[in-house]
Amino acid sequence: MFSTQINRRQFLTAGRNQAVSPLRPPWSINEADFQDACTRCGDCLSACPENILIREGVNGYPIVDFKRGECTFCTDCVKACPSTALAESDARPWLLKAVVGKSCLAKQQVICTTCAEQCELRAIRFTPLAGAIAQPEINLDVCTGCGACDAPCPAQAIEMLRSEVRDVQ
Ligand code: SF4
Ligand code: SF4
Ligand code: SF4
Repeated sequence: MFSTQINRRQFLTAGRNQAVSPLRPPWSINEADFQDACTRCGDCLSACPENILIREGVNGYPIVDFKRGECTFCTDCVKACPSTALAESDARPWLLKAVVGKSCLAKQQVICTTCAEQCELRAIRFTPLAGAIAQPEINLDVCTGCGACDAPCPAQAIEMLRSEVRDVQ
C-alpha cells in the first residue's frame, strides 16, 4: 500500500531526535557509543566511492550529505572503519526514509516526476488524478533511505528522516 502519510505502523521521527542526532554513515552504532568509538580517522570518508561522507563541523565526526549523492550500501565504509563505530550486521543500515515536503512542485500544481525517475526501487509513484496534477506517493515499506531522490529534486523538497516501524494502534 502506498502512502505519503504516516500510518499507524510507520512513525517518522524528525523533530527533536533528528535535530540532536546527526546522520552518521550506514550501520553506525547508537550515537552515544558512536562518539566514544569513532576516532575521527576519516577512513570511511576516503573509502566511500560515492563521496557522500563528510566531516561534521568542528568536531570532525563523519556524517552523510545526500546533496552529494546516494548511498549504494556497498559497505566499503564499514570495511574501512578500524573501530567499532560502524558495525555491519543483518540489521538495516539505518532507519531513514524519504519524505516529500511542502515545496514539492507537484504540490504547487507544477508537473514534475524527477524524484520517481531516480528511484530504482520504484518506491515513489505518481498516480494520475482526474483534473489535477499527479502527486508523489512514497511506499515507506520499500524505501531504503538511499537518498538518490534527494539531490535531484529541483525544489529541494525531499527530506531524509529517521523512521521507526511501530505498532501504535
Ligand atoms: S555504504 Fe558505500 S556508498 Fe554508502 S556511505 Fe558507505 S561507502 Fe558510501
Ligand atoms: S572510519 Fe570509523 S573511526 Fe574512522 S572516522 Fe569513520 S566511523 Fe570514525
Ligand atoms: S530514498 Fe531511495 S529508495 Fe527511498 S524513495 Fe528515495 S530513491 Fe527511492
